[in-house]
Amino acid sequence: MTDSAEGRAGDVVRRLRAGGGWSRPAAKPPTDTAPRPHRGAVASLAVVGAGPAGLAAALTAADQGVRVLLLDSDAQAGGQFYRQPAAPLRARRPQALHHAWGTWTKLRDRLAAHVEAGRISHLADRHVWFVEWEFGGGGLFGVHALLGPAQTGSETVTADAVLLATGGYEKVLPFPGWNLPGVLTAGGAQAMLKGGLVLPGRTAVVAGTGPLLMPVAAGLAAAGADVAAYVESTHPADFVRHAATLAANPAKVAEAARYAAQLLRHKVPVTVRHTVVAAHGTDHVEAVTVAALDTHGRVRPGTERRIACDTLAVGHGMLAHTDLAESLGCAIDADGDAFVVTDAEQRTDVDGVWAAGEATGIGGAVLALAEGEIAGRSIAARLAGVEPRPADWASAARTRTRLRKFFAAVDVAYAPPAHWVEQVTDDTVVCRCEEVTAAEVREAVGELGATDLRTVKLLTRAGMGWCQGRVCAAGVAGVAGCSVGLAKRPFARPVPLGVLAEEPGG
Ligand SMILES: Cc1cc2nc3c(=O)[nH]c(=O)nc-3n(C[C@H](O)[C@H](O)[C@H](O)COP(=O)(O)OP(=O)(O)OC[C@H]3O[C@@H](n4cnc5c(N)ncnc54)[C@H](O)[C@@H]3O)c2cc1C
Repeated sequence: MTDSAEGRAGDVVRRLRAGGGWSRPAAKPPTDTAPRPHRGAVASLAVVGAGPAGLAAALTAADQGVRVLLLDSDAQAGGQFYRQPAAPLRARRPQALHHAWGTWTKLRDRLAAHVEAGRISHLADRHVWFVEWEFGGGGLFGVHALLGPAQTGSETVTADAVLLATGGYEKVLPFPGWNLPGVLTAGGAQAMLKGGLVLPGRTAVVAGTGPLLMPVAAGLAAAGADVAAYVESTHPADFVRHAATLAANPAKVAEAARYAAQLLRHKVPVTVRHTVVAAHGTDHVEAVTVAALDTHGRVRPGTERRIACDTLAVGHGMLAHTDLAESLGCAIDADGDAFVVTDAEQRTDVDGVWAAGEATGIGGAVLALAEGEIAGRSIAARLAGVEPRPADWASAARTRTRLRKFFAAVDVAYAPPAHWVEQVTDDTVVCRCEEVTAAEVREAVGELGATDLRTVKLLTRAGMGWCQGRVCAAGVAGVAGCSVGLAKRPFARPVPLGVLAEEPGG
């Protein structure tokens, strides 16, 4: 870390100490549409997240002459969809695990060219924990990141503008046995395969709800796992009422058909309108019980059956990463699953901060690419002090409109079973970090009068551990019968005390 960077990072620490904790900026930056003035000959943009959205924005802005700092916690660019095998594995045919490989290679090659030309600095292995406006009083944003896999050091970079392209993460609702070794998220199983070239086990059940389950089941089967069951809690017929939306998205229908064909080819038994009610095992998952659901999302008694497996890959949809936007004071829509609110240019309501991709709502890689392109064009124009021309991104805007509509329909069709909470027995651990059971949460509500998630947390410690509620909030809220609301986490990552203590004045 440079001396000046240390000094600036120290500002954060001093503010924390002075205020006794993190607080939002006293006043939001101006929200008018005036271009943000920049320092130096070339305007700079910090992009947090090198997935499809961040890459598209970084490349588009760099094409227009913006100097880009592209930060990502992963060692390689690509995000979740284009996740690459770890370099030391020397994968010979990584494309075997991917769809849309051609799009990825174009992004990869453009990134390499910009890096080579010095227009983009790809700062890998940077876990951004805090972004602040008016950093050090200099009219710039300060982006603070923990370094490397160990996350023991910190670095701060500054920029005229920030794009938050931090993507999403999986929602998993609790059920008895979900905390057994061998139970992992569907995306986690996918990440092991794409990033580590390993199978999570020999015999897998893929279960839950949502479009992510299909590529995961197909990918595991293609890689040699015995997929003993693919258990989806909704029914394809639920999509029929969205026929017009489906007709407008033939590429998505074709994609689903390709996955379905793969499942058929690998003889994966597909069970719809069923759910996993329990995972069994002592030291490791050995079997799961699945049961049929009625049309109201209730388990139909007597339909339970046991399936042997050593892996359960489970997911109940996706959630947007909103932490950095929240701490910057950006508007968040938290009526349902929270997401960052943006306008037609992908601007947040905080001047100088844009957001794109799944941080602004779950919608897949193609939508993330379109939003990233729009953001990149808007940022380049505004940093240059000119009014952006929507005609420049007309095609991306059409893609965005179409896919947002499509994923709104997906969201409705793939809702978790309405009565999933009824399967959560009292002894089910609902907060894994703090080992809080459903009984403790129910007691907090029923006997101690808690009516919101924050009070449940204070009474039970649910959500106070390492994940700070990212994994368990939806489950705990469901068991408590309250809404999730905004988490208001001060930092996007747990920050080691050593990092804060090493700052000037520590
Ligand atoms: C685990 C998982 C697996 C998925 N698998 C598939 C699949 O197989 N098929 C499919 O169609 N869709 C899949 N999806 C959905 C798909 O990945 C997304 O639709 C798409 O990648 C969204 O692009 P994005 O750029 O918005 O976000 P992402 O691709 O998620 O990229 C966000 C990037 O931001 C980085 N990041 C986040 N927070 C920080 C931070 N604080 N500091 C630094 N970096 C940060 C992440 O490391 C990541 O590289 C998956 C999603 C997840 C979460």
